[in-house]
Amino acid sequence: MNNNELWTQILSRIESSVSTMIYNIYFKDTTLLDIDNNNTFKIQVKNEFIKNHLLNHFDDLINEKIKEVTRKDYLYELVTSPGELEIPKKKVEDNEYISQLPLEIENNVHNEPVMNVVDEVFPDYNDNLNPNYTFENFVVGNQNSIAYTCAKAVADQPGVLYNPLFIWGKSGLGKTHLMHAIGNEIKHKYNKRVLYISSKQFKEDYQEIFANKNTNTTLLSAFKKKYYDIDVLIIDDIQFLSSAEKTQEELHNTFEAFKPFQKQIIISSDTSPDDLQKFEDRLKTRFAWGMTVQISPPDLELKIKILKNKMAGHETAEKIKPEVLEYIASNSQSDVRHLEGIINRLYLMILMNPNEEVNLEFVQKYLIEEINNNIYAENSVEKIKKAVADYYNVTVDTLKSKKRKAEINKARQVAIYLCTMNTDETVERIGLSFNRDHATVIHAREKITEDLKNSEQLKQEIKEIKDKI
Ligand code: ADP
Ligand code: MG
Repeated sequence: MNNNELWTQILSRIESSVSTMIYNIYFKDTTLLDIDNNNTFKIQVKNEFIKNHLLNHFDDLINEKIKEVTRKDYLYELVTSPGELEIPKKKVEDNEYISQLPLEIENNVHNEPVMNVVDEVFPDYNDNLNPNYTFENFVVGNQNSIAYTCAKAVADQPGVLYNPLFIWGKSGLGKTHLMHAIGNEIKHKYNKRVLYISSKQFKEDYQEIFANKNTNTTLLSAFKKKYYDIDVLIIDDIQFLSSAEKTQEELHNTFEAFKPFQKQIIISSDTSPDDLQKFEDRLKTRFAWGMTVQISPPDLELKIKILKNKMAGHETAEKIKPEVLEYIASNSQSDVRHLEGIINRLYLMILMNPNEEVNLEFVQKYLIEEINNNIYAENSVEKIKKAVADYYNVTVDTLKSKKRKAEINKARQVAIYLCTMNTDETVERIGLSFNRDHATVIHAREKITEDLKNSEQLKQEIKEIKDKI
């Protein structure tokens, strides 16, 4: 048996012990050059990165498989010098399945223009963590205690217990806060590399590779470096990957790449994994592998606790009568973001009216609009559309149509404007619901913002529509 055949046998055993993805990236392009002094396997790998990775993560596996086949205790050595056996670089086609490609930092690092593009698209490592979101300032109650406990467990032992951790619940209930808290704690306690990313950003990064044909391979390497070279991956608002098939596929690949190393993944969504629309089944199954936890809207008790906690230490806090907190808690929506909005408004009003007592009367006078502001309610985009359509005497379908008559256009722009200002939907999602792209949404928002500066009439119209929502 020659070296080639021997190595092929060993590789085939390795192949059945790791995922296809890992095999393709790290093992597929290796070659057995020689067996030195009859006791050391000299194995050629493509670059330093792969060499280090193999030594750090697959040392045991390589030793074990060599022994299984040869029944002897050989040593091995990894070499990167190109030599005559160098394998030609694979050409990357636009539609080529991403995981089939070797991870390599291209040799064209000196090619300035290309690297500039890469730097721009994938800037130096940045964890994107917000240090203000911590476990200490997360208020725990019945509706979020399970999520909190699991989040703590993950922060204590990343990659061990709940992997992935899937947190779901309506908007404004603390999912993002909790995920940053996990990331911050792991970063400080274990000095691990954490990456927090919105699913939108993940998608944009991925699409960037295919948008730029010339720099394709380099961008691909940079993409992989960004996403595979970390210990903890936090992806927020996964629902935005609905229908994004290619991106979903790459997310699946990323998960595969993480698997052998017990790297931690944390995901959030506005629905449970089962209810995610237009997601590959295998990905949904994957999401539910570890632990799925829901955060529910806070009850009265938790709302009061959150209000007290957020106000503690604020200079005007002692001016606020207890019945004010109770009133706010019982009459606001069950959404922490809304509570925060009310608190900010309350502070502002206290500042502007320093001589008034902060009691229920004060609330009635200055805060009632903020408290009753139901615009964040479920399906608010639909509610806004309906209110605008009624006001301008058109149908909701007309707002979504391609009709460009001036009155219809104006109504549509007002509706889009209200959606961007009064919901926390992304411009993409708002666009979708009007059959438009995000650029149109941004344009509509800017147009109405500008018009509002000069038109009392428009101001009045918008106020009347808001009253109806
Ligand atoms: P989600 O990601 O679920 O939409 P966020 O994490 O963005 O919600 O939370 C919205 C706001 O409410 C943030 O400012 C966050 O700090 C705050 N918040 C949510 N839940 C809590 C909580 N239990 N304790 C303290 N602040 C909270
Ligand atoms: Mg969030």
